[in-house]
Amino acid sequence: MGELWSRLAEVDGRIADAARAAGRDPSELTRIVVTKFHPASLVDELYGLGVRDVGENRQQELSRKVGEVGDRPDLRWHFIGQAQTNKARAIRAAATVVHSLDRARLADALHAAAEDDEPVLDVLLQVNLTDDPGRGGVSPDGVVALAEHTAALPSLRVRGVMAVAPLDEPPAPAFERLRGCSDALRRVVPGASWISAGMTADFAEAIAAGATHLRIGSAITGPRPERG
Ligand SMILES: *Cc1c(COP(=O)(O)O)cnc(C)c1O
Repeated sequence: MGELWSRLAEVDGRIADAARAAGRDPSELTRIVVTKFHPASLVDELYGLGVRDVGENRQQELSRKVGEVGDRPDLRWHFIGQAQTNKARAIRAAATVVHSLDRARLADALHAAAEDDEPVLDVLLQVNLTDDPGRGGVSPDGVVALAEHTAALPSLRVRGVMAVAPLDEPPAPAFERLRGCSDALRRVVPGASWISAGMTADFAEAIAAGATHLRIGSAITGPRPERG
């Protein structure tokens, strides 16, 4: 077995250890492999190793790879990047889950982009855990209003919250704030229990704070090629 398999197995071992250390069952966690900047052939290789959840952060790259990888009905594409409202149709057409819903206008655009018999789209509300409004995400005190707005749109299903840890503080307290946002969300959308958090550098802390969906790139894929 090659290097990719070894890195995947190693990361999955660390995920299982972190889950058990937190008193959690590793099987409740979804490990998404972030394949951004890598060619579609990497997605094929990962699929061959049993990976069924991959993440992309740019719409064009996502759409292109979905086309290149072709018909794999059980492969789930997670869109984790900033989304422009004028790309809503393309995002809907390509993504299984959108993790980066951060404003009511984007919810409206994704809803308006739904075709007649299209399945409901799973979305997570991205929360900005920093003080910098330029970073993606709704502020923690805007989560409930965005949840109420989105939950009223029948072609979208609010599944939970998502965040990236800030660079200028340790991840654990930031992920605790995200968990608070998840609690607030579940008071308005009771089933919305997903927490998408944790990357290569901080997935153990995210698991300890209750993450259900981990977005792991370089620890599995190796270093990313230069941004094309
Ligand atoms: C790139 C990216 C990741 C994965 O990052 P790694 O540090 O390579 O694990 C996770 N989440 C988002 C939003 C990303 O853009």
